[in-house]
Amino acid sequence: MTETSKPRGFSRRSFIKGAAALTAAGALVGCAPKTDDKDEVDSSIAESPDQIFSGTCRGNCGGGCFLNVHVRDGQVVRTSARDMPDPQYNRICTKGLTHVGRMYGANRVMYPMKRVGERGSGDFERISWDEALDTIAEKWKGYTEQYGPTAIMFFLGSGNYAALSGSCNSVGAYQRFVNAMGCSYCSLDVDAAVGFGSSRATGGIDLANELTDRKNAKTQVIWGNNPTISLMHTMHFFLEAKENGTRFVVIDPVYNATVSKADWWVPVKGGTDGALALSVLNVMFENGWIDDDTLRNKTNCGLLIKEDGTFLRMSELGVEPTKGDPDPLTGEPTVIDPPAVWDGAASKAVAFSETTAPALEGVPDVNGVKVQTVYENAMSHISQYPPATAAAICGLTEDHIHELARIYHEDGPVTTEIMMGMNHYRNGHYSAWPVYLVSLLTGNAGKPGAAIGQSEEYLPQMVYSNSKAACYPTDASGKPCPGQANLIHTVQIQDVLETGKLLGQDLTIKSAYIHCSNPVVTMCDHDYTTGWFDKLEFVVVADMCMTETCKHADIVLPSAHWFEQVDLGFLFSSHPYLLWQDKCVEPLGEAKPDFQIFGLLLEKMGKGEFWNITEEEYLETLLDTEYWKSVGCTVEKLKNDKAARIYPEGDKIASAEVFGTETGRINLYQDKVKRAYVSAHEVDESIERGLHWETPTFAGEDREYRATYPFHLLSEHMRTHTHTQWWDCEYVKEYEPEPIVRINPDDAAEMGIAEGDVVKLFNDQGFVVMKAAINAGLPRKMISSARSWQIDDFIDGHFASLPSREYNQVCANQAFNDVAVAIEKM
Ligand code: SF4
Repeated sequence: MTETSKPRGFSRRSFIKGAAALTAAGALVGCAPKTDDKDEVDSSIAESPDQIFSGTCRGNCGGGCFLNVHVRDGQVVRTSARDMPDPQYNRICTKGLTHVGRMYGANRVMYPMKRVGERGSGDFERISWDEALDTIAEKWKGYTEQYGPTAIMFFLGSGNYAALSGSCNSVGAYQRFVNAMGCSYCSLDVDAAVGFGSSRATGGIDLANELTDRKNAKTQVIWGNNPTISLMHTMHFFLEAKENGTRFVVIDPVYNATVSKADWWVPVKGGTDGALALSVLNVMFENGWIDDDTLRNKTNCGLLIKEDGTFLRMSELGVEPTKGDPDPLTGEPTVIDPPAVWDGAASKAVAFSETTAPALEGVPDVNGVKVQTVYENAMSHISQYPPATAAAICGLTEDHIHELARIYHEDGPVTTEIMMGMNHYRNGHYSAWPVYLVSLLTGNAGKPGAAIGQSEEYLPQMVYSNSKAACYPTDASGKPCPGQANLIHTVQIQDVLETGKLLGQDLTIKSAYIHCSNPVVTMCDHDYTTGWFDKLEFVVVADMCMTETCKHADIVLPSAHWFEQVDLGFLFSSHPYLLWQDKCVEPLGEAKPDFQIFGLLLEKMGKGEFWNITEEEYLETLLDTEYWKSVGCTVEKLKNDKAARIYPEGDKIASAEVFGTETGRINLYQDKVKRAYVSAHEVDESIERGLHWETPTFAGEDREYRATYPFHLLSEHMRTHTHTQWWDCEYVKEYEPEPIVRINPDDAAEMGIAEGDVVKLFNDQGFVVMKAAINAGLPRKMISSARSWQIDDFIDGHFASLPSREYNQVCANQAFNDVAVAIEKM
């Protein structure tokens, strides 16, 4: 690289001594600091000659902190916490305090660059914007002429949860760009399993209450989540509830910072959560703790399953189907053919809604058709996990399982908090379904103190925004844009590049545009990722830092930092606000906001008419719905107040009255198997229809793979990095300077490994070399390390080379925790 900026403005030492030390140390040892207590910070703000702007910190830590951005002489000199309308949400962390280090760091991309060395070498030279845009347009026009616009593939990450220049799950402006281009789209496929598995139970409805409701829970169960590190601004709500008498239960294989605060710790083996949940259900059913009315009228337990695995429907009993509302995708009326249940009193099968007392067991053949109830099917799975069996699988005692069942039965309301622990396994969706059932069948959802979910405050943004108008532009004549052409999963790219086909259809991909993402580091199977990058003819990456992914690009475009542009912080997990981002300073060097880059690219491609919109107009369009008006979320309010609540006032309590399933009830079985994986491969539906659990594919203790690779490797988040962001920030490197792998002391002693020794982790996939840290919080045969560092940070190899890219048969999900390795002292 021949042109990047140098650190400027502040020395690392002076910065640490100045602002960050006030709160950084506190933020590193407990839950995030409550910044409205920081008198020193507040008084210095008052006396400061700086201009103070509104900012939002919006990487994918989920925090979405509201910031003061302090500007002096056209340069950001520091950041501090800004008051939320509800002070309970006032928080900031070490990273929020060290934006200066990112903005003005040595790796900042300041100019458009073109690659002059090998891919991955980092040899680039500065070019002008005109040359960069002309080169991209020339390449893309050529590909489009020969293969169509689908030869260009857009790749989205989660590096900026803002509506204009960010990622924002299909409502961000990037989606307008994709739709205007009519290009291919590559899916990131991360964090998908729990949402997919839980939707089998719920039909996809939101069951998470607002964080301020935690105080109403008698028990809170943190299941596979270490919020002290990875979602730190939720932690104080849990601890405040605990101080108020709420029992704090943590289910996690590792004794970590969150477990250290627990009243009761359930040290489940990694990836066995589904077996634990099925066993808890087993205890509940054995004890008769699931009430009859719930089973008959709030679940689909009475539905009748034929031998082919599908439901017996009323049309098979001579009742004509009726027409329902139009299908939003096809526009055709939906067909309503209700599933049948057995009405014992009437001795006949009826539509499920026609009786409140459907039989749960022992239904005779119906019109000569052999049937089983959903209840019987569910029990056939649940009965496989009596406490003795599950305790052995999960590394627990039977008492753990009995006590957990008792809590959900007696110590409610229970709020269950789930995050990425079970999400990052190939069996994650199998686990999530019974975990959700534990809450739902005991009435622990849909009321104050009773909830289950991932703390996410995404619902109105995803459901009620006017994304149709904002993201699907028309040309000057009113003709709609072409729209996104297809969906490619990362695991399929190499095959598409080699065969020129996707799902049997011709598809030639020549170029990729990488936005808000660092996939070379974050995706499983590093060699695979660099392999498909190398097969692409032309790669463009837009980023603010020279990441490892940028080094594999042909052209790197300098994206503006979050504070160098107007934007709207849109999707957060730790508070229910939209937050306004002022443009605080001019972009460094020749950087530009991604929103503007999209417009420039479309202009060059002759598609400028689809980007005939300003930043403010885009946001006004997005918020132009009755919902946003009803809660007062308008661009005008956001510009004035800088923050607007996405729900009506009062704790938001999710409803658990009507589920999104076919019957509106809780599912313990489904006859139609949805896939979160668009692929042509065969699926064994008999596994997917009912409750099912299996050990992790690589990390499961009973897997042959573990005989060769005896250590289960967990991929952890870091307090000082948000995924791969902040990896180069000198300030936070004072605390976490390099990658380490944590090893249980007894395992380390057996291998003769001491603190700081250099070790190699390896498996069939690859290897990485880094230093060891001895940590008694890890159980035997489990090690952990962070998925945050770039290739140059490792002594050798790459952490991302260890996890396999293989997906479950129906759920496309990067399984970062389903990894087994061997260890060798170097
Ligand atoms: S990194 Fe996350 S928790 Fe820290 S300040 Fe930014 S948004 Fe808040």
